[in-house]
Amino acid sequence: MSLSIFDRKRILVTGGAGFLGSHLCERLLNDGHDVICVDNFFTGTKDNILHLMDNPNFEVMRHDITFPLYVEVEEIYNLACPASPFHYQHDPVQTTKTSVHGAINMLGLAKRVGAKIFQASTSEVYGDPEVHPQTENYTGSVNPIGPRACYDEGKRCAETLFFDYNRQYNLDIRVARIFNTYGPRMHPNDGRVVSNFIVQALKGEPITIYGDGSQTRSFCYCDDLIEAFVRMMDAPSGITGPINMGNPAELTIRGLAEVVIEMTGSKSALEIHPLPMDDPMQRCPDITKAKTELAWEPSTSLEDGLRKTIAYFAEIVC
Ligand code: NAD
Ligand code: UDP
Ligand code: UDP
Repeated sequence: MSLSIFDRKRILVTGGAGFLGSHLCERLLNDGHDVICVDNFFTGTKDNILHLMDNPNFEVMRHDITFPLYVEVEEIYNLACPASPFHYQHDPVQTTKTSVHGAINMLGLAKRVGAKIFQASTSEVYGDPEVHPQTENYTGSVNPIGPRACYDEGKRCAETLFFDYNRQYNLDIRVARIFNTYGPRMHPNDGRVVSNFIVQALKGEPITIYGDGSQTRSFCYCDDLIEAFVRMMDAPSGITGPINMGNPAELTIRGLAEVVIEMTGSKSALEIHPLPMDDPMQRCPDITKAKTELAWEPSTSLEDGLRKTIAYFAEIVC
Protein backbone atom coordinates (compact mmCIF):
# COMPACT_ATOMS: atom_id res chain seq x y z
CA MET A 1 0.00 0.00 0.00
CA SER A 2 1.32 3.48 -0.74
CA LEU A 3 0.21 6.59 1.11
CA SER A 4 0.36 10.21 0.00
CA ILE A 5 3.02 12.42 1.54
CA PHE A 6 0.24 13.92 3.70
CA ASP A 7 -0.90 10.59 5.14
CA ARG A 8 2.46 8.83 5.40
CA LYS A 9 3.85 9.00 8.95
CA ARG A 10 7.50 8.85 9.99
CA ILE A 11 7.61 6.18 12.66
CA LEU A 12 10.48 5.10 14.92
CA VAL A 13 10.53 1.50 16.14
CA THR A 14 13.17 0.82 18.80
CA GLY A 15 14.12 -2.85 19.04
CA GLY A 16 12.94 -3.11 15.43
CA ALA A 17 15.26 -6.02 14.57
CA GLY A 18 13.86 -8.18 17.37
CA PHE A 19 11.05 -10.71 17.29
CA LEU A 20 8.11 -8.35 17.81
CA GLY A 21 9.86 -5.27 16.41
CA SER A 22 10.47 -6.90 13.02
CA HIS A 23 6.78 -7.87 12.72
CA LEU A 24 5.79 -4.33 13.67
CA CYS A 25 8.17 -2.73 11.12
CA GLU A 26 6.74 -5.03 8.45
CA ARG A 27 3.17 -4.12 9.36
CA LEU A 28 3.85 -0.36 9.37
CA LEU A 29 5.67 -0.54 6.01
CA ASN A 30 2.78 -2.55 4.56
CA ASP A 31 0.45 0.19 5.78
CA GLY A 32 2.52 2.66 3.71
CA HIS A 33 4.51 4.43 6.43
CA ASP A 34 8.13 5.53 6.64
CA VAL A 35 9.88 3.41 9.28
CA ILE A 36 13.15 3.96 11.15
CA CYS A 37 14.31 0.80 12.90
CA VAL A 38 16.76 1.45 15.75
CA ASP A 39 18.49 -1.54 17.29
CA ASN A 40 21.79 -2.42 18.99
CA PHE A 41 21.46 -6.05 17.78
CA PHE A 42 21.87 -7.51 21.27
CA THR A 43 19.10 -10.08 20.75
CA GLY A 44 17.77 -8.91 17.38
CA THR A 45 19.27 -9.99 14.07
CA LYS A 46 19.59 -8.63 10.56
CA ASP A 47 17.94 -11.84 9.33
CA ASN A 48 14.68 -10.65 10.91
CA ILE A 49 14.61 -7.51 8.74
CA LEU A 50 16.50 -8.62 5.63
CA HIS A 51 13.27 -8.90 3.64
CA LEU A 52 12.47 -5.24 4.41
CA MET A 53 15.82 -3.78 3.37
CA ASP A 54 14.85 -3.10 -0.26
CA ASN A 55 11.89 -0.98 0.79
CA PRO A 56 12.79 2.72 0.25
CA ASN A 57 10.59 3.63 3.23
CA PHE A 58 12.73 1.52 5.59
CA GLU A 59 15.86 2.71 7.36
CA VAL A 60 18.00 0.86 9.91
CA MET A 61 20.20 2.52 12.56
CA ARG A 62 22.57 0.60 14.82
CA HIS A 63 22.13 2.51 18.05
CA ASP A 64 21.78 1.81 21.77
CA ILE A 65 18.81 3.72 23.23
CA THR A 66 20.60 4.26 26.54
CA PHE A 67 22.32 7.06 24.55
CA PRO A 68 20.43 10.10 23.24
CA LEU A 69 18.89 9.90 19.80
CA TYR A 70 17.95 12.81 17.56
CA VAL A 71 15.54 11.94 14.74
CA GLU A 72 12.40 13.66 13.47
CA VAL A 73 9.33 11.42 13.71
CA GLU A 74 5.61 11.59 14.47
CA GLU A 75 5.26 8.28 16.32
CA ILE A 76 7.59 6.16 18.47
CA TYR A 77 7.11 2.50 19.40
CA ASN A 78 9.58 1.76 22.21
CA LEU A 79 10.26 -1.99 22.11
CA ALA A 80 14.02 -2.08 22.72
CA CYS A 81 14.79 -4.44 25.61
CA PRO A 82 15.74 -8.11 25.79
CA ALA A 83 12.57 -10.02 26.68
CA SER A 84 13.69 -13.53 27.57
CA PRO A 85 14.80 -14.17 31.17
CA PHE A 86 17.98 -15.84 29.86
CA HIS A 87 18.98 -12.70 27.94
CA TYR A 88 17.80 -10.00 30.31
CA GLN A 89 19.65 -11.68 33.20
CA HIS A 90 22.87 -11.94 31.16
CA ASP A 91 23.70 -8.26 31.83
CA PRO A 92 21.09 -7.13 34.35
CA VAL A 93 22.57 -3.65 34.80
CA GLN A 94 22.30 -3.01 31.07
CA THR A 95 18.70 -4.32 31.16
CA THR A 96 17.73 -1.73 33.77
CA LYS A 97 19.61 0.97 31.85
CA THR A 98 17.79 0.05 28.65
CA SER A 99 14.40 0.19 30.38
CA VAL A 100 15.03 3.36 32.38
CA HIS A 101 17.65 5.47 30.54
CA GLY A 102 16.20 4.23 27.26
CA ALA A 103 12.72 5.35 28.30
CA ILE A 104 14.02 8.77 29.41
CA ASN A 105 15.75 9.29 26.06
CA MET A 106 12.75 8.19 24.01
CA LEU A 107 10.40 10.32 26.15
CA GLY A 108 12.75 13.30 25.77
CA LEU A 109 12.73 12.73 22.02
CA ALA A 110 8.92 12.48 21.96
CA LYS A 111 8.67 15.68 23.99
CA ARG A 112 11.02 17.61 21.68
CA VAL A 113 9.27 16.59 18.45
CA GLY A 114 5.71 16.30 19.84
CA ALA A 115 5.43 12.60 18.90
CA LYS A 116 3.00 10.01 20.23
CA ILE A 117 4.92 7.33 22.12
CA PHE A 118 4.02 3.67 22.75
CA GLN A 119 5.71 1.62 25.47
CA ALA A 120 6.06 -2.16 25.26
CA SER A 121 5.52 -2.89 28.94
CA THR A 122 4.93 -6.36 30.27
CA SER A 123 2.85 -8.67 32.42
CA GLU A 124 6.04 -8.95 34.50
CA VAL A 125 5.00 -5.69 36.21
CA TYR A 126 2.53 -7.96 38.08
CA GLY A 127 5.42 -10.17 39.29
CA ASP A 128 4.22 -13.44 40.81
CA PRO A 129 0.57 -12.32 40.99
CA GLU A 130 -1.83 -12.96 43.88
CA VAL A 131 -4.78 -11.85 41.73
CA HIS A 132 -6.08 -14.00 38.92
CA PRO A 133 -6.61 -13.22 36.10
CA GLN A 134 -4.63 -9.99 36.23
CA THR A 135 -6.48 -6.71 35.65
CA GLU A 136 -4.71 -3.42 34.98
CA ASN A 137 -5.56 -2.00 38.40
CA TYR A 138 -3.68 -4.81 40.20
CA THR A 139 -0.43 -3.24 41.39
CA GLY A 140 1.61 -6.43 41.41
CA SER A 141 3.87 -8.50 43.61
CA VAL A 142 7.48 -8.05 42.53
CA ASN A 143 10.65 -9.00 44.39
CA PRO A 144 12.78 -5.84 43.93
CA ILE A 145 16.09 -7.61 44.57
CA GLY A 146 15.61 -10.94 42.80
CA PRO A 147 17.11 -12.09 39.48
CA ARG A 148 14.07 -10.93 37.49
CA ALA A 149 14.02 -7.47 39.10
CA CYS A 150 16.25 -5.82 36.49
CA TYR A 151 13.49 -6.43 33.96
CA ASP A 152 10.38 -6.21 36.18
CA GLU A 153 11.44 -3.11 38.11
CA GLY A 154 13.01 -1.56 35.01
CA LYS A 155 9.70 -1.89 33.17
CA ARG A 156 7.77 -0.63 36.22
CA CYS A 157 10.01 2.44 36.41
CA ALA A 158 9.56 2.99 32.67
CA GLU A 159 5.77 3.01 33.21
CA THR A 160 6.25 5.58 36.01
CA LEU A 161 8.26 7.77 33.63
CA PHE A 162 5.65 7.45 30.88
CA PHE A 163 2.83 8.54 33.19
CA ASP A 164 4.90 11.38 34.68
CA TYR A 165 5.82 12.71 31.21
CA ASN A 166 2.12 12.50 30.42
CA ARG A 167 1.06 14.42 33.55
CA GLN A 168 3.99 16.86 33.62
CA TYR A 169 4.42 17.59 29.89
CA ASN A 170 1.08 16.45 28.48
CA LEU A 171 2.83 13.86 26.32
CA ASP A 172 0.56 11.54 24.31
CA ILE A 173 1.50 8.10 25.72
CA ARG A 174 0.28 4.54 25.07
CA VAL A 175 1.33 1.87 27.56
CA ALA A 176 0.66 -1.79 26.67
CA ARG A 177 1.23 -4.62 29.15
CA ILE A 178 2.17 -7.53 26.94
CA PHE A 179 1.66 -11.13 28.07
CA ASN A 180 3.70 -14.05 26.66
CA THR A 181 3.74 -13.81 22.88
CA TYR A 182 5.26 -16.24 20.40
CA GLY A 183 5.70 -16.76 16.68
CA PRO A 184 8.18 -16.88 13.81
CA ARG A 185 11.44 -14.91 14.30
CA MET A 186 11.83 -15.72 17.98
CA HIS A 187 15.51 -16.47 18.38
CA PRO A 188 16.10 -20.26 18.46
CA ASN A 189 18.50 -19.80 21.43
CA ASP A 190 16.35 -17.21 23.10
CA GLY A 191 15.54 -19.44 26.06
CA ARG A 192 11.81 -18.72 26.13
CA VAL A 193 9.52 -21.65 26.57
CA VAL A 194 7.81 -21.82 23.16
CA SER A 195 11.04 -21.56 21.16
CA ASN A 196 12.88 -23.95 23.52
CA PHE A 197 10.18 -26.63 23.34
CA ILE A 198 9.77 -26.44 19.55
CA VAL A 199 13.52 -26.52 18.85
CA GLN A 200 14.01 -29.39 21.33
CA ALA A 201 11.09 -31.35 19.85
CA LEU A 202 12.30 -30.85 16.27
CA LYS A 203 15.83 -31.99 17.19
CA GLY A 204 14.55 -34.96 19.20
CA GLU A 205 16.24 -33.58 22.33
CA PRO A 206 14.69 -33.75 25.82
CA ILE A 207 12.01 -31.14 26.52
CA THR A 208 13.24 -29.12 29.51
CA ILE A 209 10.44 -28.58 32.03
CA TYR A 210 11.37 -26.17 34.83
CA GLY A 211 9.74 -27.21 38.11
CA ASP A 212 6.87 -29.69 37.93
CA GLY A 213 5.37 -27.91 34.91
CA SER A 214 2.18 -26.95 36.76
CA GLN A 215 2.89 -23.20 36.40
CA THR A 216 0.65 -21.54 33.83
CA ARG A 217 1.07 -19.02 31.03
CA SER A 218 -1.27 -17.69 28.34
CA PHE A 219 0.23 -17.48 24.85
CA CYS A 220 -0.66 -14.91 22.21
CA TYR A 221 0.32 -15.23 18.54
CA CYS A 222 2.45 -12.32 17.28
CA ASP A 223 0.12 -11.15 14.46
CA ASP A 224 -2.73 -10.69 16.95
CA LEU A 225 -0.50 -8.63 19.22
CA ILE A 226 0.80 -6.36 16.44
CA GLU A 227 -2.80 -5.57 15.49
CA ALA A 228 -3.39 -4.48 19.10
CA PHE A 229 -0.26 -2.24 19.04
CA VAL A 230 -1.45 -0.40 15.94
CA ARG A 231 -5.01 -0.05 17.24
CA MET A 232 -3.72 1.43 20.46
CA MET A 233 -1.44 3.93 18.69
CA ASP A 234 -4.31 4.95 16.39
CA ALA A 235 -6.86 5.23 19.24
CA PRO A 236 -7.99 8.72 20.31
CA SER A 237 -5.65 10.58 22.66
CA GLY A 238 -6.60 9.86 26.24
CA ILE A 239 -6.31 6.11 25.66
CA THR A 240 -3.06 6.05 27.62
CA GLY A 241 -3.41 2.55 29.06
CA PRO A 242 -2.03 0.62 30.68
CA ILE A 243 -3.88 -1.97 28.64
CA ASN A 244 -3.27 -5.70 28.95
CA MET A 245 -2.54 -7.40 25.62
CA GLY A 246 -2.48 -11.16 25.46
CA ASN A 247 -4.49 -14.28 24.88
CA PRO A 248 -6.54 -15.34 27.92
CA ALA A 249 -6.39 -19.04 26.98
CA GLU A 250 -4.31 -20.32 29.90
CA LEU A 251 -2.44 -23.62 30.03
CA THR A 252 0.23 -25.31 32.10
CA ILE A 253 3.81 -25.53 30.88
CA ARG A 254 3.53 -29.34 30.94
CA GLY A 255 0.37 -29.01 28.81
CA LEU A 256 2.28 -26.85 26.32
CA ALA A 257 5.05 -29.47 26.12
CA GLU A 258 2.46 -32.16 25.34
CA VAL A 259 0.86 -30.06 22.57
CA VAL A 260 4.27 -29.34 20.99
CA ILE A 261 5.28 -33.02 21.10
CA GLU A 262 2.01 -34.03 19.51
CA MET A 263 2.12 -31.36 16.77
CA THR A 264 5.74 -32.06 15.82
CA GLY A 265 5.32 -35.84 16.05
CA SER A 266 8.47 -35.81 18.21
CA LYS A 267 9.81 -38.70 20.28
CA SER A 268 11.40 -36.29 22.80
CA ALA A 269 10.97 -37.14 26.47
CA LEU A 270 10.21 -34.64 29.24
CA GLU A 271 13.21 -33.74 31.44
CA ILE A 272 12.63 -32.02 34.80
CA HIS A 273 14.90 -29.11 35.79
CA PRO A 274 14.79 -26.88 38.89
CA LEU A 275 12.28 -24.03 38.81
CA PRO A 276 14.16 -20.69 38.48
CA MET A 277 13.88 -18.29 41.43
CA ASP A 278 10.84 -15.94 41.38
CA ASP A 279 9.31 -17.77 38.38
CA PRO A 280 5.61 -16.70 38.41
CA MET A 281 3.26 -19.65 39.11
CA GLN A 282 0.20 -18.38 37.27
CA ARG A 283 -0.33 -15.78 34.60
CA CYS A 284 -3.39 -14.89 32.57
CA PRO A 285 -4.58 -11.51 31.30
CA ASP A 286 -7.99 -10.00 31.84
CA ILE A 287 -8.43 -8.30 28.45
CA THR A 288 -11.76 -6.56 29.10
CA LYS A 289 -10.10 -3.15 28.72
CA ALA A 290 -8.56 -4.05 25.34
CA LYS A 291 -11.95 -5.30 24.17
CA THR A 292 -13.81 -2.17 25.22
CA GLU A 293 -11.21 0.53 24.43
CA LEU A 294 -9.61 -0.98 21.31
CA ALA A 295 -12.31 -3.41 20.11
CA TRP A 296 -9.51 -5.97 20.07
CA GLU A 297 -9.21 -9.59 21.04
CA PRO A 298 -6.89 -12.29 19.74
CA SER A 299 -8.25 -14.51 16.98
CA THR A 300 -5.46 -17.07 16.43
CA SER A 301 -5.84 -20.40 18.23
CA LEU A 302 -2.82 -21.96 19.95
CA GLU A 303 -2.82 -24.77 17.37
CA ASP A 304 -2.82 -22.37 14.38
CA GLY A 305 -0.13 -20.18 15.91
CA LEU A 306 2.05 -23.14 16.86
CA ARG A 307 1.67 -24.64 13.36
CA LYS A 308 3.15 -21.46 11.82
CA THR A 309 5.87 -21.22 14.46
CA ILE A 310 6.86 -24.88 14.08
CA ALA A 311 7.09 -24.41 10.29
CA TYR A 312 9.42 -21.44 10.83
CA PHE A 313 11.74 -23.29 13.21
CA ALA A 314 11.71 -26.41 11.01
CA GLU A 315 13.23 -24.24 8.23
CA ILE A 316 16.02 -22.81 10.38
CA VAL A 317 17.03 -25.62 12.74
CA CYS A 318 16.60 -28.78 10.69
P1 NAD B 1 13.59 -9.40 21.42
O1 NAD B 1 14.70 -9.67 22.38
O2 NAD B 1 13.42 -10.29 20.25
O3 NAD B 1 13.69 -7.91 20.88
C1 NAD B 1 14.25 -6.84 21.60
C2 NAD B 1 15.06 -5.99 20.62
O4 NAD B 1 15.62 -4.87 21.33
C3 NAD B 1 16.25 -6.76 20.03
O5 NAD B 1 16.31 -6.55 18.65
C4 NAD B 1 17.46 -6.15 20.75
O6 NAD B 1 18.64 -6.24 19.99
C5 NAD B 1 16.98 -4.74 20.97
N1 NAD B 1 17.65 -4.03 22.08
C6 NAD B 1 17.88 -4.48 23.33
N2 NAD B 1 18.49 -3.53 24.07
C7 NAD B 1 18.63 -2.44 23.26
C8 NAD B 1 19.17 -1.16 23.45
N3 NAD B 1 19.71 -0.77 24.62
N4 NAD B 1 19.17 -0.29 22.40
C9 NAD B 1 18.65 -0.66 21.19
N5 NAD B 1 18.12 -1.88 20.95
C10 NAD B 1 18.10 -2.75 21.99
O7 NAD B 1 12.25 -9.37 22.29
P2 NAD B 1 10.72 -9.23 21.86
O8 NAD B 1 10.00 -10.44 22.31
O9 NAD B 1 10.61 -8.81 20.46
O10 NAD B 1 10.26 -8.05 22.83
C11 NAD B 1 10.08 -6.72 22.37
C12 NAD B 1 9.55 -5.86 23.50
O11 NAD B 1 8.30 -6.37 23.94
C13 NAD B 1 10.47 -5.81 24.72
O12 NAD B 1 10.48 -4.49 25.23
C14 NAD B 1 9.81 -6.74 25.70
O13 NAD B 1 10.07 -6.38 27.03
C15 NAD B 1 8.33 -6.58 25.35
N6 NAD B 1 7.58 -7.79 25.70
C16 NAD B 1 7.64 -8.92 24.96
C17 NAD B 1 6.93 -10.04 25.36
C18 NAD B 1 6.93 -11.32 24.55
O14 NAD B 1 6.34 -12.30 25.00
N7 NAD B 1 7.52 -11.38 23.39
C19 NAD B 1 6.16 -10.00 26.54
C20 NAD B 1 6.15 -8.85 27.28
C21 NAD B 1 6.85 -7.72 26.87
N1 UDP C 1 16.78 13.37 24.23
C1 UDP C 1 17.04 12.60 23.11
N2 UDP C 1 16.58 13.07 21.91
C2 UDP C 1 15.90 14.23 21.77
C3 UDP C 1 15.63 14.98 22.94
C4 UDP C 1 16.08 14.51 24.17
O1 UDP C 1 17.64 11.55 23.17
O2 UDP C 1 15.52 14.56 20.65
C5 UDP C 1 17.25 12.86 25.53
C6 UDP C 1 18.17 13.84 26.22
O3 UDP C 1 19.49 13.35 26.11
C7 UDP C 1 17.73 13.87 27.64
C8 UDP C 1 16.50 12.96 27.70
O4 UDP C 1 16.12 12.72 26.36
O5 UDP C 1 18.68 13.31 28.49
C9 UDP C 1 15.34 13.57 28.44
O6 UDP C 1 14.98 14.77 27.81
P1 UDP C 1 14.15 15.88 28.58
O7 UDP C 1 13.97 17.04 27.63
O8 UDP C 1 12.92 15.32 29.16
O9 UDP C 1 15.06 16.25 29.82
P2 UDP C 1 16.39 17.11 29.97
O10 UDP C 1 16.98 17.32 28.60
O11 UDP C 1 15.94 18.34 30.62
O12 UDP C 1 17.23 16.24 30.84
N1 UDP D 1 10.18 -22.84 31.00
C1 UDP D 1 10.35 -24.21 30.98
N2 UDP D 1 11.29 -24.72 30.14
C2 UDP D 1 12.04 -23.97 29.31
C3 UDP D 1 11.85 -22.57 29.32
C4 UDP D 1 10.91 -22.03 30.19
O1 UDP D 1 9.69 -24.95 31.72
O2 UDP D 1 12.87 -24.53 28.57
C5 UDP D 1 9.15 -22.28 31.89
C6 UDP D 1 9.61 -21.12 32.77
O3 UDP D 1 10.17 -21.61 33.98
C7 UDP D 1 8.33 -20.35 32.99
C8 UDP D 1 7.55 -20.56 31.68
O4 UDP D 1 8.12 -21.72 31.07
O5 UDP D 1 7.59 -20.91 34.04
C9 UDP D 1 7.64 -19.39 30.72
O6 UDP D 1 8.99 -19.06 30.56
P1 UDP D 1 9.50 -17.95 29.56
O7 UDP D 1 10.97 -17.80 29.80
O8 UDP D 1 9.05 -18.25 28.18
O9 UDP D 1 8.74 -16.62 29.97
P2 UDP D 1 8.33 -15.93 31.37
O10 UDP D 1 6.86 -15.89 31.30
O11 UDP D 1 8.82 -16.73 32.52
O12 UDP D 1 8.99 -14.59 31.30
